[in-house]
Amino acid sequence: MNQVEIPFLDLPAQQKSVLPEMMEVFKAACESASFIGGPLVSNFEQSFAEFSGSKYSVAVNSGTDALRFALMAMGINQGDHVVTVPNTFVATTEAISQAGGKISFVDVEESTSLMDLNKLEDLLNERFEKSTNKTLRPKFIVPVHLYGQMTDMDGLMQLAGKYDIRVLEDACQAHGAKYKGKGAGTIGEAGAFSFYPGKNLGALGEAGAVTTNNSKIADYIKVIRDHGQRKKYYHEIEGYNGRLDAIQAGCLSVKLKHLKKWNEERQKLARVYDTELSQLPWIKKAEVLPHNISSYHLYVIHCQNRDGLQKHLKDKGVHTGLHYPVPLHLQQCYSSFGYKTGDFPVSEKLSQRLLSLPMFPELGEERVRYVVESIKSFQS
Ligand SMILES: *Cc1c(COP(=O)(O)O)cnc(C)c1O
Repeated sequence: MNQVEIPFLDLPAQQKSVLPEMMEVFKAACESASFIGGPLVSNFEQSFAEFSGSKYSVAVNSGTDALRFALMAMGINQGDHVVTVPNTFVATTEAISQAGGKISFVDVEESTSLMDLNKLEDLLNERFEKSTNKTLRPKFIVPVHLYGQMTDMDGLMQLAGKYDIRVLEDACQAHGAKYKGKGAGTIGEAGAFSFYPGKNLGALGEAGAVTTNNSKIADYIKVIRDHGQRKKYYHEIEGYNGRLDAIQAGCLSVKLKHLKKWNEERQKLARVYDTELSQLPWIKKAEVLPHNISSYHLYVIHCQNRDGLQKHLKDKGVHTGLHYPVPLHLQQCYSSFGYKTGDFPVSEKLSQRLLSLPMFPELGEERVRYVVESIKSFQS
């Protein structure tokens, strides 16, 4: 048994720091029995829009619903091709399929794990210029701002503009991330956020939101998340039960006030990792480009003997994660698409080399140094 145990993520620590404030929310919600909708939800929506730098934010049940509803609000039609990356959480592609879309994968860049825009350009060139089959022409691109770093949005928006493609940002890991000063979820037509407990801003259960500057998109999502009704029992369209609970919204508002500080703490810890790990030639870190401010949802390194290092760290009491161990094109649920190993080689290589180190605001520099020392003691 180790004397030291460093969790990958310490969720109880975060709840503890805001528990008294959240208890007030709980008490007020119970006293008024206002559990669905109401001011707790609309106040959170307003604060989150301000935080993100978008005009509107619409709160929903989960990040998955945020992605799905946003695609629907943006006018996806059955069979429309939607471009995204294979190295993401399955919710990205679930949302695409379940909104009626067809998934088109583009591989990622090895250094950042983000969509490779050269490969995106190749795909668009192929589908728009070379192929005469118009049904293959993508209507949407969903860049995934993985680990808390935004995709190169200037380059992406330029390509999207050239071919008249709509852009939905998967910002589920990027609360507070910036690209050239602009917030995640504010550059594309809409952005989808998750407040799953482990995210930088986490609810006490499931929660998500869509950000947008487009009032029509915001309005449509407000209607479909609530059974397609604007007025009770008058259903304009067939919608969903996709609302965010008032208690969750209230707790998220409490936590949102701390998010900037929490993100800064993550950034500070990332700099310690950066400095210390740069001395180890056998470790590469997932790069953050200079015009980006990462929210460091995850701190990820690449290591050839990843499994060995992960086991070594576990023996030292350091818990780590894999994001993600199997790229989506090789997942069983997509076997019917007929992808094979070698189709997206960078995502495949990363899936075998990536290791996510402990990263959360309450971690503290001392424990980061212990993680680093433990890595240094691994004979690669
Ligand atoms: C967490 C996450 C989602 C889904 O969010 P849920 O709230 O769990 O539905 C989607 N995309 C990415 C990249 C995520 O990390």
